Amino acid sequence: MKVFDRAVVRVLPAVPRSVVRRVAAPYIAGSTLDDARSTVAALNAEGMRATVDVLGEEIARPDEARSIANAYRDALAAIAADSLDANISIKLTGFGLKLDQALCRELVFGLVADAAEHGTLVRLDMEDSSTTDATLALYRELRAAGYEGVGVVLQAALRRTLDDVLALAPLVPSVRLCKGIYVEPQSLAFQGFEEIRASFVACLDALLDAGCRLAIATHDEWLIERALERVDGLPRERYEMQMLLGVRAERARRLVADGHPVRVYVPYGEQWYEYSLRRLQENPRVAGYVAKDVLARVVPGR
Ligand SMILES: Cc1cc2nc3c(=O)[nH]c(=O)nc-3n(C[C@H](O)[C@H](O)[C@H](O)COP(=O)(O)OP(=O)(O)OC[C@H]3O[C@@H](n4cnc5c(N)ncnc54)[C@H](O)[C@@H]3O)c2cc1C
Repeated sequence: MKVFDRAVVRVLPAVPRSVVRRVAAPYIAGSTLDDARSTVAALNAEGMRATVDVLGEEIARPDEARSIANAYRDALAAIAADSLDANISIKLTGFGLKLDQALCRELVFGLVADAAEHGTLVRLDMEDSSTTDATLALYRELRAAGYEGVGVVLQAALRRTLDDVLALAPLVPSVRLCKGIYVEPQSLAFQGFEEIRASFVACLDALLDAGCRLAIATHDEWLIERALERVDGLPRERYEMQMLLGVRAERARRLVADGHPVRVYVPYGEQWYEYSLRRLQENPRVAGYVAKDVLARVVPGR
């Protein structure tokens, strides 16, 4: 399995852009805001909420960070103009976290103030472990400044996460819990599939005990079932199930039919190629899923 995943990653840079585009298409709304608008509208029509992600990470210049912040402003305006059921997710490296922390802070505070006027939540995505402390610190700063409409993401794969849950609990945060997509060293992260699942469940329990508003972001059926057992009887505003665009869409529909709130993560932007390659290279397992998914579509019944 691992050999197959790594082989897929090795050949990726040699794959023509047009092929990567076809492979990436189900997972990305498109390159323009209009693409994101129509994807979100279609999800809303199926009873699903969305979170809009403007592609662009690890920028090299301050003007790139500003232009990502502006793209998010446009997304907020479009969400309001079309009365879409959507919020936004941002990656701090796209706002200059590794370039200029003061700029990053200024841009995020500006965007959160704008979102607050629209009543739209801004969630800080969680990137690799070199950004965890800074991301949680900025989240705390935003809350200390009185912004309630902000959320954060915690990664079950990280050994520190249960402690982070306990430390954040007094804030009763809005948390998206996911496994974590980045390959991290053993000293920082659980490596085993079952260990990560066990950590996910432990964090889920701790977040529910703390009364948090919880977004459960996983396509892992075993975890979905554990989560559903735990949220049974909770009011709809306390939790939602989250999935990525193009992944297990039929499961998402079934969750909606069963009465659960579901939100789909909708990335869009010019940088779809870089995003796709990086996502696949960051985690060979994802490359393996995607390759198998594509094979299944090309060779039905395989
Ligand atoms: C809404 C949402 C937001 C996220 N935000 C973050 C974040 O801020 N930071 C972060 O580090 N990670 C984030 N992730 C990614 C997450 O950490 C995992 O890497 C990803 O969800 C895969 O883990 P899984 O729980 O779905 O379980 P897995 O066991 O990895 O996957 C279960 C099954 O889902 C399918 N699957 C999973 N991913 C894909 C895919 N990409 N393509 C095709 N099939 C797939 C496969 O069939 C697989 O067998 C997010 C995930 C979601 C759903």
